[in-house]
Amino acid sequence: MKKKQFKTESKKILDMMINSVYSNREIFLRELISNASDAIDKLYYKSLTDNSVKLDKDDFKIKIDLNKDNRTIVITDNGIGMTEEELDNNLGIIAKSGSSLFKEINDKHEDINIIGQFGVGFYSAFMIAKEIKVISKAFGSNEAFSWVSNGADGYSIEKTDKESFGTEITLYLKDNTDTDNYDEFLEQNRIMGIIRKYSDYIKYPINMDITKKDDDDKDVTSEETVNSMIPIWKRNASDVNDEEYNNYYSDKFFDYETPIKVLHNKVEGQVSYNSLLFIPSHAPYDYYTKEYEKGLQLYTNGVLIMDKCSDLLPDYFSFVKGLVDTEDISLNISREMLQQDRSLKVIAKSLEGKIKSALENMITEDRDKYEKFFDAFGMQLKYGVYGFYGMNNEALKDLLMFYSSKDKKRVTLKEYVENMKDGQDKIYYASGESLDRIDMLPSVERFKDKDYEVLYLCDYVDEFTIQALMDYEGKKFANVSSESTDLDTEEEKEELKKVNENAKDLLSFMNDSIDEVKSVRFTNKLKNHPVCLSTEGAISFEMEKVLNQMPTGETYKADIVLEINENHPIADKIRDLYENDKDALINYSKILYNQARLIEGLSVENPTELTNLICDMLSK
Ligand code: ADP
Repeated sequence: MKKKQFKTESKKILDMMINSVYSNREIFLRELISNASDAIDKLYYKSLTDNSVKLDKDDFKIKIDLNKDNRTIVITDNGIGMTEEELDNNLGIIAKSGSSLFKEINDKHEDINIIGQFGVGFYSAFMIAKEIKVISKAFGSNEAFSWVSNGADGYSIEKTDKESFGTEITLYLKDNTDTDNYDEFLEQNRIMGIIRKYSDYIKYPINMDITKKDDDDKDVTSEETVNSMIPIWKRNASDVNDEEYNNYYSDKFFDYETPIKVLHNKVEGQVSYNSLLFIPSHAPYDYYTKEYEKGLQLYTNGVLIMDKCSDLLPDYFSFVKGLVDTEDISLNISREMLQQDRSLKVIAKSLEGKIKSALENMITEDRDKYEKFFDAFGMQLKYGVYGFYGMNNEALKDLLMFYSSKDKKRVTLKEYVENMKDGQDKIYYASGESLDRIDMLPSVERFKDKDYEVLYLCDYVDEFTIQALMDYEGKKFANVSSESTDLDTEEEKEELKKVNENAKDLLSFMNDSIDEVKSVRFTNKLKNHPVCLSTEGAISFEMEKVLNQMPTGETYKADIVLEINENHPIADKIRDLYENDKDALINYSKILYNQARLIEGLSVENPTELTNLICDMLSK
């Protein structure tokens, strides 16, 4: 008989399992029981939808047998079973959960201790077993096969006998060593404890032969069901503790971190349903890729009919995991019909409301948690606004946060508006590469001096999000570096207008000297800086950067304005040069423009020209 080798990735996971040193070995049982339960689910579902299959729900069970003499644990189920090919494919190649674990570990460079809280599937049994034998007979087939592996050397499959359909897994425990004692897993009470801890909600009986003393102090053995069998979401929320939720979550959704929020609801009304939703505390490694699939599990009457029902979640809440159980949807419904299903729409709407209000409450009640959530999924919410041209504004506007010039902490738009100064009618923002960069911008300085709060937009989507929002509660957004934003009184405006009119010729001469700018003008908004840049029109500097990185092939240009501080000594110098040395003014203009670029955090387009100009001036 030929030995087959595991695929490379499977091998790595196997190695980790075989050599694992961590204390969380007990989860192997959770994994095998979950697999058994899934296999029964598949067959039970078949029996409900296929008239040729006549099976009764009460016939299904999972059995655990401990044998101290052989040092084995046997897990038996009467689920759908596996064909020879399935044994080869499913157990020879690392399953989905395993490979995602692997990626996660690789990405995070964390040590393998996270395995304990992660769904790692069948392979986890190698943490405690030196050899595993799987005997399986697929439902409807009359052949059975056995799959045997001791981990490292690969596996082999051969034909065998098995009376009825289902799967029987025998774990041959590793030998005890000075430091590791595997015999604990042969103790009835220990195994019962593990089952109750992780698998109590499994809806099929998990039976064991339990030995107890009778009245005459004699040992009597009988088969008993260890788990309570009520799915966790069917229990009252008040009866389920955090640990149970967290165990369920890590078991079903392969996450090693506990969720940031659990939403457990029983809804009765025009459509009745139970739902159990989890908001993860970090983004899965593939979250911001095309591979990520959103959706909730959909059960009807405790039977899983769809693993990822995407219609139950809007895209902007695609990070939510969990399930919905309802009697108001037919078991045989097709995917196409499901989309049209009115009940499903009602449920989706109601879930959306619950998620939204849970998040809104978190903002005020548990700020740190919300910030953590926003770190992970804020991008998705912002994308939900700008990617849909404002269609989702109502749903999302109160969940957004931006950094603020006050304390450089994040604020919501609601908080910003509540803190607005008397008479302030716009929401001011500035954008740039980083908080520190923005904080140093000349145009921001003036707003801070006058005690206005400014939102600092340093995420590349931020400005697009603001544009799609258009306004918040009637308050328009205004970029502090754009021309339309001014804090001046009418007299100050009048005064500045005069200054610019009087210098019309000078300014247009300077404008002609600098190719890149749309116009040049004097400003009164700068305190110490000699110059700054601003933009006119819809495209700001940050947007120019982002738009030009997009693979559209088009180039975008912001309309740039060079502003000169009219109260700075440089203003007098320019006036003087315009009268007496126009050639020098050309060079001055170029230098000032580049200086302003540097202050804005932009790069200088032609450094050689600039340094030559400066050097010329120094040598005079
Ligand atoms: P996962 O359960 O996450 O898919 P596993 O490595 O635990 O990963 O299992 C791989 C596959 O093997 C399962 O998806 C299933 O198809 C099959 N399998 C495992 N255990 C059983 C079982 N008891 N009965 C039938 N099929 C099983």
